[in-house]
Amino acid sequence: MVAISVIQYKPLPQKYKYGIVLDAGSSHTSVFIYEWPAEKENNTGMVRQKHTCNVEGKGISSYSNNPVGAGRSLQKCMEEAKKTIPAHRHHETPVYLGATAGMRLLNYPFSYQGARIITGQEEGAFGWITVNYLSKNLRKPTGTLGALDLGGASTQITFVPQQEIESQDNSIDFRLYGNNYHLYTHSFLCYGKDQVLKISMGKKMESTFKADEDPCFHPGYNLTKTAGSVFDTPCMEGVKMANGSFFHVGTGNWSQCQQSIRKVFNTSYCPYSRCSFNGIFQPSVDGNFGAFSAFFFVMDFLNLTSDSLDITKQNLSTYCSTPWKKIVQNHPKTKEKYLSEYCFSATYILTLLEDGYKFTSKNWKDIKFIKKIEDSDAGWTLGYMLNLTNMIPAEAPDTPLMPYG
Ligand code: AMP
Repeated sequence: MVAISVIQYKPLPQKYKYGIVLDAGSSHTSVFIYEWPAEKENNTGMVRQKHTCNVEGKGISSYSNNPVGAGRSLQKCMEEAKKTIPAHRHHETPVYLGATAGMRLLNYPFSYQGARIITGQEEGAFGWITVNYLSKNLRKPTGTLGALDLGGASTQITFVPQQEIESQDNSIDFRLYGNNYHLYTHSFLCYGKDQVLKISMGKKMESTFKADEDPCFHPGYNLTKTAGSVFDTPCMEGVKMANGSFFHVGTGNWSQCQQSIRKVFNTSYCPYSRCSFNGIFQPSVDGNFGAFSAFFFVMDFLNLTSDSLDITKQNLSTYCSTPWKKIVQNHPKTKEKYLSEYCFSATYILTLLEDGYKFTSKNWKDIKFIKKIEDSDAGWTLGYMLNLTNMIPAEAPDTPLMPYG
């Protein structure tokens, strides 16, 4: 008798490696867990986001008087990370904590191992790497995607320009997969949406000693606020401090709101052939752009991501003039603080993009408001990790471009 043994071929389990990046933003901290096949680290598009966790509470800069509390606030998300990543990989999984503009403003000497405050230039450049890595633009001769990032305390613009870069500070060069990239980047500290709201309210209080009537808030909105809550920031240096409290009353007028926001951009001098604002060199915007973080949160919430610039302005004008009561009724689940600020935030976004960066109704369609590409969030964190783990080689690896998996 012949014994026949049946061999069952089971596919070998895919081996993955992992990396963790903590994005310590000005308003909150998020934990990102990335995963990639262990043997294919050098292929573009191989790293993907496996899990994210939002740390409860405010950003770490709010723990300046209680650094231990900042560490403690991360515990829950780090426990989640432990569960998400297989135990045998824990010891080799790098954790990076990158703090952005909130900590830049505070200039706090944090000493967690592996934690650092990334520069505005890095924040812009790594955001650009992330979106182009995820779009698989980096190993092809096709064009790249510019990156527009808006946080609470700063905003970044990064793209490959057609013109010469006239200021060294705004120029950054990479060699990735055998291609040279010559990028323009600028980070405007204090031009995140939370800081600009404070600055524009503060400027108004300086000139009228009150910010009572505010066209950037809905009619019927009213709340007593303290001057301290507006002036509690280094971004207000040079603005005369007001005291006491004031009654913040919305009037919901989009064009008046835009007029008040325009005052935060200084366009009266430019030492170069062209500037965005505040005397900062900027070549003319070129090609497609991905606009993420708060650019996306705000424009997506208001359904303003797909129309022409003119229609977008009309819709925003209608939204801003909608009574506060109706807005709350229509969005019972949205946090009132976010809800009350969307009119201001979207008006700031349009003003920054049009008056600041010089987008026009013609190239408005080149801006894509995005949250994710494939399954990974657009933002600086992935680019930061790819760089620190040497996962994007300067020269093209021999292996052909393969799909993920
Ligand atoms: P940062 O903490 O510096 O990364 O800034 C993030 C910005 O996005 C802050 O201004 C937050 O208030 C804002 N933000 C986050 N989530 C939302 C949301 N769902 N709607 C509106 N704004 C948001």
